[in-house]
Amino acid sequence: MSSKEKNQKNSAEIIPRSEHQVSRDNISDAALKVLYRLKKGGYQAYLVGGSVRDLLLKKSPKDFDVTTDATPEQINKLFRNSRIIGRRFRLVHVRFGREIIEVATFRSSADPENDDHDHEVSEGTGRVLRDNVFGSLEDDVWRRDFTANALYYNIADFSIMDCVGGADDIFDRSLKMIGDPEQRYREDPVRMLRAARFAAKLEFDIDAETAKPIPDLAYLLNDVPAPRLFDEFCKLFQSGHAVEGFRHLREYGLFAHLFPATEQWLQEGDEARLEFVEAALANTDKRVAEDRPITPMFLYGIFLWGPVSEFAKQLVDEGSCTELQAVIAGAAELSLKQNERVFFPKRFSLPMREMLQLQPRFEKRQGRRAFSLLGHPRFRAAYDLMMLRQKLGEIDEESAVWWTEVQKLSEDEQAKRFGIKGTKGGRRGSRSGRRRGGRARRSKNAE
Ligand code: ATP
Ligand code: MG
Repeated sequence: MSSKEKNQKNSAEIIPRSEHQVSRDNISDAALKVLYRLKKGGYQAYLVGGSVRDLLLKKSPKDFDVTTDATPEQINKLFRNSRIIGRRFRLVHVRFGREIIEVATFRSSADPENDDHDHEVSEGTGRVLRDNVFGSLEDDVWRRDFTANALYYNIADFSIMDCVGGADDIFDRSLKMIGDPEQRYREDPVRMLRAARFAAKLEFDIDAETAKPIPDLAYLLNDVPAPRLFDEFCKLFQSGHAVEGFRHLREYGLFAHLFPATEQWLQEGDEARLEFVEAALANTDKRVAEDRPITPMFLYGIFLWGPVSEFAKQLVDEGSCTELQAVIAGAAELSLKQNERVFFPKRFSLPMREMLQLQPRFEKRQGRRAFSLLGHPRFRAAYDLMMLRQKLGEIDEESAVWWTEVQKLSEDEQAKRFGIKGTKGGRRGSRSGRRRGGRARRSKNAE
């Protein structure tokens, strides 16, 4: 039977332990404990989703998801360290220190003809609103997104249950939607973003049938709640495959529905704009690879910088304000609009705006105010953005080198560079200044 037929029909294949590479050595102790306890309790227990897929690909899974025929209440009773969460999907979180194992009860797939209250599909859009009808493993398979994500590792005999040809697709590095792709995207448009993300992360090709409807349906993202898109933004751009993910998003017309102003700015300019954005994404991927900290606000700021600086240029040309005021106004205006699409919590959007607003200050290299830039809490992110702006021809190399070198000097030498006589009290607003200055100056120095 071809994998296409498998994808359509319900023909389970059981891959015995001797014929696959998934070993308990690579499954976390916490996940094993959950699986074994469920089994001991008389329930079925399977590892499912990304973890089985990643183990078959010899990658280390990000997390381990478990599925079972036990109901949330029954699971909850088995584990003292557990709690039931979620409304749209009721799940149980079992906590072991910092590790959380997500345990879900088998569910039946979306069936628009099912009028059960616990399985609600929006009439107009076909979107699944609630999905709490429990079912068997064979039912559960059909509500999953891609065949590669629908493999079940059975703790009872260590075999893998494959109802949709997922193992072959993993082997062929092909990302294939289960069922009718268009219908599945209509049920949940975020699956289109997941296609782009998995293709990038796993280095899979998106199967032609799976890819085909995406450009025409990309607009469905406009109705996805903005906070959910923020979660997807983080997964897309912070898992070490941001450059590839971004390219897929643009190839399928998805990016325009996440960051419309940015897409327009990219299309209206030359290649340099794309180079600027991709250089930032590549830096982020490098940081992830090196296990260095990253923040979503940096890429958010990168995406907004182009539209903000265009907006600011216009204001300045109209003669209505200074460059600094114009950038402040642009950052406020564009982040407000952007938040309607991809909602950024204030703890990210405020520092992001600061990072943008500091840009005009790199033009001044003399005086105390210029000096204080070095001590600004957002200096490092602003400096990284400034360096990338060389690609846009907005910063010359001499200036970039100057700001790079000045950071390496002692505070006295820095003061000289900024044309300041003596550094009594340190940099205005600097961390060292605050430490020595105490309360009184801290309030005066607040930026
Ligand atoms: P990751 O490596 O990013 O964790 P994952 O495949 O485990 O990848 P999750 O978002 O953790 O992805 O979801 C776990 C599993 O739940 C998926 O493998 C898939 O089977 C199913 N799933 C998650 N989101 C959806 C969705 N929107 N539609 C259908 N199935 C989904
Ligand atoms: Mg996962």
